[in-house]
Amino acid sequence: MDYKDMGFSTKALHAGQYHDPVTGAHVSPIYQTSTFVLPNTEEAIRLNQNQDQGFTYTRFGSPTQAELEKKIAIMENAEAALAVSSGMAAISTALLTVLKAGDHVVAGDVIYGCTFALVKNVLTDLGIEMTMVDTSDLSQIEAAIKPNTKCVYIETPANPTLRITDIEGAAEIAHKAGAKLLVDSTFASPYLQNPLTLGADIVVHSATKFLCGHGTVVAGVLAGSKELMDRARFPIVQCFGQVISPFDAWLLMQGMKTLGIRMEKHCSNAMKVAEFLMNHPQVENVYYPGLPHHPTHEIAKKQMKGGFGGLMSVDVKGGIEAGKVLMDNLEVVSLATSLGNVDSLIQHSPTMSHFDMTTEEREAVGIYDGQVRLSVGVENVEDLIADLDRALKIVAEKVN
Ligand SMILES: *Cc1c(COP(=O)(O)O)cnc(C)c1O
Repeated sequence: MDYKDMGFSTKALHAGQYHDPVTGAHVSPIYQTSTFVLPNTEEAIRLNQNQDQGFTYTRFGSPTQAELEKKIAIMENAEAALAVSSGMAAISTALLTVLKAGDHVVAGDVIYGCTFALVKNVLTDLGIEMTMVDTSDLSQIEAAIKPNTKCVYIETPANPTLRITDIEGAAEIAHKAGAKLLVDSTFASPYLQNPLTLGADIVVHSATKFLCGHGTVVAGVLAGSKELMDRARFPIVQCFGQVISPFDAWLLMQGMKTLGIRMEKHCSNAMKVAEFLMNHPQVENVYYPGLPHHPTHEIAKKQMKGGFGGLMSVDVKGGIEAGKVLMDNLEVVSLATSLGNVDSLIQHSPTMSHFDMTTEEREAVGIYDGQVRLSVGVENVEDLIADLDRALKIVAEKVN
């Protein structure tokens, strides 16, 4: 069956899925094995030298991983996909696939904290030059291009300011310069946008977040052309070893089956929570791409389909103290540094997800002291609003 032209949830449920031919098990088994018995020496040599398709050793791929990769490739309209052990593994693999010493990368100045550290410290130590700009302003990307630019790296929506970058525009600038466009699409998930369709060369996800959805694994995925994914697999993953475990790959697939209906609810709940917070006297500002005053609302409307996601950042009046009182007094929403789970999570970006940035670096890009990041789950929205309202009343009493 070819699922390419079917709807999102049909793809999410059926793509890649196979039923075990030995036992008839409806959900495919986890191939929890490190190695594979090879039929004979002749065939073993061919398989080990990648001349034949097949499995030889789990660091080089496993049937469970292969099933997951088929699902990812179809959801992202990609020729091929690769699953790895974390979102950071996906990001570092993607960057090392397109960059080498002497090359230059243009990266967004608002990106996930560890990606910021990777680009700013680790890659520069390896002899890769970098420039960080506000990629939501395409003219800044264009101005940063150098003769040795080989990669433009964007995150959209960006963590934690939710700023949107025009993927089509960025792809055009990158390709004109002979560079590849890499997009971290974690906040959108494949449900809200498909960067490859808009011209990107590689899309990466922290699959720990919306793709898994239940907070049970740390994993990452990347997708793109077969040529780029082959290079990412061999030599990058085969040599660095950031392989996904069969059990994590299997858990991830179970979560991905409901991505469509989860995202619908994340989006509608988040819109209501954002409107409630925006009108709350204890709140200074809400950064949610679905709100008309968000600086990149128009491009979000054009680029994202079916909603604006489940993430928002909130400046609470009263700075860091107010943020702490809010987080310590929520009961339905948990204090935790992750996102995209079925249940709602909150964290303080300056001291938690973005502690790698200096105060000056943070404030220059709008990550202020009192800013909390809220990942709106799929609970009944009135319970979330009541929880926030009650905790904000305590903020009013204690801080303001
Ligand atoms: C969480 C996250 C990452 C890192 O993913 P891990 O799975 O924790 O390694 C990268 N990018 C974004 C946008 C994230 O939210």
